[in-house]
Amino acid sequence: MTAFGIAPMAPDAAELPRRTLIQTLAAPDIEAQLDELATHAIGLTRAEATRSSDTPDSLLRRAGAFDPAAAAFLRNDPMGRRVLQGRAGKMVHLTADASGQVQKIVVRFPAEKVEQQSSHFTRLTIERDGTVFRARTEVAPLQAQVALGSGSIRTSLFAATDDANIPDAIASQMADMFSGDIDFHRELRKGDRFSIVYETLTADGEPINWDGGVGRLLAGEFTNNGKTYSAVYFKDSASGKASFYGFDGQSKRRAFLASPMEFSRITSGFAMRFHPILNTWRQHNGVDYGAPTGTAVRSVGDGVVEMAGWQNGFGNVVHVRHAGDRTTVYAHLSKIDVKKGQRIEQGQRLGAVGATGWATGPHLHFEFRVGGRHMDPRAIARASEAITLPNYAKAQFQQTVASVKTQLAVAETMDGVSAAD
Ligand SMILES: [Zn+2]
Repeated sequence: MTAFGIAPMAPDAAELPRRTLIQTLAAPDIEAQLDELATHAIGLTRAEATRSSDTPDSLLRRAGAFDPAAAAFLRNDPMGRRVLQGRAGKMVHLTADASGQVQKIVVRFPAEKVEQQSSHFTRLTIERDGTVFRARTEVAPLQAQVALGSGSIRTSLFAATDDANIPDAIASQMADMFSGDIDFHRELRKGDRFSIVYETLTADGEPINWDGGVGRLLAGEFTNNGKTYSAVYFKDSASGKASFYGFDGQSKRRAFLASPMEFSRITSGFAMRFHPILNTWRQHNGVDYGAPTGTAVRSVGDGVVEMAGWQNGFGNVVHVRHAGDRTTVYAHLSKIDVKKGQRIEQGQRLGAVGATGWATGPHLHFEFRVGGRHMDPRAIARASEAITLPNYAKAQFQQTVASVKTQLAVAETMDGVSAAD
């Protein structure tokens, strides 16, 4: 129940894809193929990615070639060797003739200079010239494209984003985008839906799969338990400040986050396999999050550490005092990273999940108190004050919202088309 498509940057609605692409296909460059066909009897280009276990022979075999001379070139030539040197995941387009003889290999991988890696890539071209091979490298700019994705939750958020070919980094940005609205650890429901617009970087038209290939999440809509939240990435051109905003112009940044743990593939898959020692202790006044020992625990809001140490029952515990006589409590920690009196920012790491004190397994016990009284943390996060967009930026913001609404509408229909399960 997921779909994925790619549209050009700032697309005209009429040009947006109307039909669903179930997955990104590594589309071979048709013109290059036609060129190959013109110069060689039969040339077939196959796309592959290098693996850490690859040898020249295994890579060629997977790409449909059998060519000892080409294998020797990849083994012995200083430029040829670069194909399998360093990190795996290089994108390989290999053109071979009908007998499996290599005509051309084009390999794309991250630019060598770190400062260029988010904007450029290296293109290594190896071409047969009679009985020898010639190789050359170029540095070429990456291109940003807008990608649309959508899905429905059946088991977990990451299962849904995997199905839609949405990169993990974008899934995490999505959890972050709605972190003031939805506690992704506890509130996801089967049937929840999302549509997103995000940037993807391409090398010669093909989405890149190496680190840094993921651009920004530009906009999203998330329907959780029947309620729809929407947000857009907006950079105020006057101040240069960027943040996520609701379509109504309210900043998504709240005084409190909905969850004291960052949502990740690891925490999302960790179910509580035990029951905390509740009734034998005292009335349970908090929220429990199952997570592996060592998972980072973050402060849900700005504040000052009021207590950091051992307390009966709680084990290692941190209390953070916030404005308005509000306090949050993080208990059973395996490790504490802050000190009493320390000033803390929202999202800052306080320590790590553990099972200290009265706990039968690793989990975070989290409390929210107002004037000493226990409150439902989720209700607090939602009610907390939001920041509104300055007046001068509103026209620019409305334009951005109008354009992403069109894209999100398209992303949604893609999901509908592929609803066959
Ligand atoms: Zn608890």
